[in-house]
Amino acid sequence: MNRIVTLRPEQVQEPPGHQILIVDDEPLMRSGLRHHLEEPGRRILECGTGAEAIALMKNREIELVLLDINLPDISGMEILEWITVNRKSIGVILVSGDDCIDSAIRALRHGAEEFVRKPYEVDDIRHKVNAVLHRRQLERNNVLMTARLEQSERLHRFLVESSPDIIYTLDEKGCFTFINRRVESLLGFSREELIGCPYFTIVHEDDLERAVYAFNERRSDHRATTNLEVRLKCKKDNNFRIFEDRHVVTMLSAVGIYESATDSDEVAKQTKRYLGTYGVARDITERKLAEETINFQALHDHLTHLPNRRLFRDRLELAITQAKRNGGMLAVMFIDLDRFKLVNDTHGHAEGDELLKNVAQRLRGCMRAGDTLARQGGDEFTVLLPDLHCEENATVIAQKIIDDFSIPYHVVGNEFRATASIGIALYPRDGETADALLRNADIAMYKVKGNGKNGFQLFSPAISSCYQDRLVLENELRQAVKNGEFELHFQPQVNVRGGTVVGLEALLRWNHPVHGLLNPGGFIELAEESGLIVSITDWVLAEACRNLAGWRARGFLDLRVAVNVSPSEFERNDLVERVCSQLDRYRIPGEYLEVEITENLLLSETVSVVEKMRALRSRGVRIAIDDFGTRYSSLNYLRNFPISAIKIDQSFVRDLSERQGGSPIISAIVGIARGFGLDLVAEGVETDYHLEVLHALGCEEMQGYLFSRPVPADEVTNLLATMGNRPDDLSRAMDSPLLRLNGFDLKGAL
Ligand code: C2E
Ligand code: MG
Ligand code: MG
Repeated sequence: MNRIVTLRPEQVQEPPGHQILIVDDEPLMRSGLRHHLEEPGRRILECGTGAEAIALMKNREIELVLLDINLPDISGMEILEWITVNRKSIGVILVSGDDCIDSAIRALRHGAEEFVRKPYEVDDIRHKVNAVLHRRQLERNNVLMTARLEQSERLHRFLVESSPDIIYTLDEKGCFTFINRRVESLLGFSREELIGCPYFTIVHEDDLERAVYAFNERRSDHRATTNLEVRLKCKKDNNFRIFEDRHVVTMLSAVGIYESATDSDEVAKQTKRYLGTYGVARDITERKLAEETINFQALHDHLTHLPNRRLFRDRLELAITQAKRNGGMLAVMFIDLDRFKLVNDTHGHAEGDELLKNVAQRLRGCMRAGDTLARQGGDEFTVLLPDLHCEENATVIAQKIIDDFSIPYHVVGNEFRATASIGIALYPRDGETADALLRNADIAMYKVKGNGKNGFQLFSPAISSCYQDRLVLENELRQAVKNGEFELHFQPQVNVRGGTVVGLEALLRWNHPVHGLLNPGGFIELAEESGLIVSITDWVLAEACRNLAGWRARGFLDLRVAVNVSPSEFERNDLVERVCSQLDRYRIPGEYLEVEITENLLLSETVSVVEKMRALRSRGVRIAIDDFGTRYSSLNYLRNFPISAIKIDQSFVRDLSERQGGSPIISAIVGIARGFGLDLVAEGVETDYHLEVLHALGCEEMQGYLFSRPVPADEVTNLLATMGNRPDDLSRAMDSPLLRLNGFDLKGAL
């Protein structure tokens, strides 16, 4: 069912277009006018009384009233008054039969826009109606435009005031005529105090020249100054924003303002008057800071804040160019901390980092102003000494560094002793490019490492050729590891009381494809420095255990094997596991393996080294100190470390001479071994005289050419036989205390 909806008059939507009201008590007059005025876009309403007219004007958007003066109820004048009083924006054309001029004047005074006398002329009234409607349209447009302008001005003002940038205008003398409120929060100046002041009131002194240039350019086209970096001063003693040096970095634009001239008015354009400048200043302080941080990070080491490798190279290249121009000299130092890895491994990286920071600080203290100290990475530092007068200037600094390092470091409650190896290369003598100088300083540094570290060395061509040889050797060694070019030879350790072999020292040999069998003296250090020692130790341990397992299988159950383990291996956390895994693999009880270490290792006295030794001892593995007495012997070591045996170094044995009789050093070592309850082995026993003296001094186990040179593994069984060792039961029987007690020489009998 359809619902019929009745609309109230106010709900009826006004049709678009002009609404014209004809007020006349004569219906003929009304219809005549309607007829003449009707047009598309117009709506003609009519009424016959003043009251009706007012009612319609109240409720409708009447634009124009054609008003008769004489109406039955109220006069046309009263309607005019009503329009004025009610501020209705309605145009009125008075249409009157009254031909008195007075009434026309009165009507116009009361706000009528036009006066038409009845009978009217159609063209005349049409013309007047059109004119009034047109005028009203213009007025409406004007009002609309004004409203829009006001709105737009408010919008622009809002935008300008709430802009995060400073927006300003200057007059032709460069004084502020406008500046937005941002200046208050950014610089702390109130805008009132700036208006009328010259722009340089707020420009940083050091940037004045640039600012003057920008403002004097007075360009208004695309060449106008944009993006000029200028620092603006903050007002002193303001609480708005505190900057370290009380300025804000801004990106400034400045555009000239000129009297407007049309594009075609070329002459006027050339001579147009300069009125001032407008522009924007954007706060880029934070961005600048971020940029500076990024730049700093790109060129500095994050841990020590020293210049990094890149910046160092830049400075070095610059210094070389200058030295080339002035015929000057400069030095490059390569500094590498000795055994720094040990600190990292035993104390952890946090302490390692702390130590590096301390080292960096101390190194910095040894430099002159103008020198560059950089961190290359890890524990490597480089130094650039520009403007060098003589070679000694560089060596003096190097010596200063070495001396300074002798003072221990205190890091997180621990005391560290750090030493450094320093290589020095001089421009132009040792190289003319950054690469050559760095490489040669590095080579010289390696020379120091090779000579026992903790010192400095100037580069020389002789060192370089050594270094080249080293490189070749290192390469070959790498191949040797890969191709399995190693062999183990075994040298017996003999108990001279029983005359039998109690142990075998495993000694490494490199079967070099060109040079033949090489002894370890020529390559073991390189293996340590290059890290190849790890694979080599693994191979030696496995090979020694495999051979021992073979001899044990043949019944030589009391035989032990000694393996030399480099100190650098004790810096690694996996050493104990690697040793034990080979024992497990070949089912060898720990007490049949002896690990030989050098005294150097004991020097470090670090907790982790002792822990590793204890862990090995707890598996039964014996620990012997090799070459005892040759280095920094201290009785303390023997007390603190879980040691099983000491080996008298062959140099002491070699020094035994028939003329001088015994050796006080050897007697002392024998005494120490006895005192600490340690086993003792004498090395390098070559003659019967050595044997006799050592035996007389109380040494029972010996090793040396007198008994046998080191022999390949497959000769060991024969060797054992010739030395009188018997498999299992027999050898046990020979060692039987009962037989010995009875003075029965079983060995001789066999
Ligand atoms: P070392 O541990 O003190 O070994 C004893 C060295 O003295 C051996 O030299 C041996 O051949 C030599 N020798 C033995 N008896 C006599 C003698 O009566 N007179 C003389 N003049 N020399 C004798 P080699 O085999 O050349 O080894 C040199 C050093 O290389 C060893 O000294 C040891 O420190 C190291 N080394 C050997 N094998 C290995 C290994 O597998 N790993 C590690 N890290 N080092 C090893
Ligand atoms: Mg040894
Ligand atoms: Mg030795």
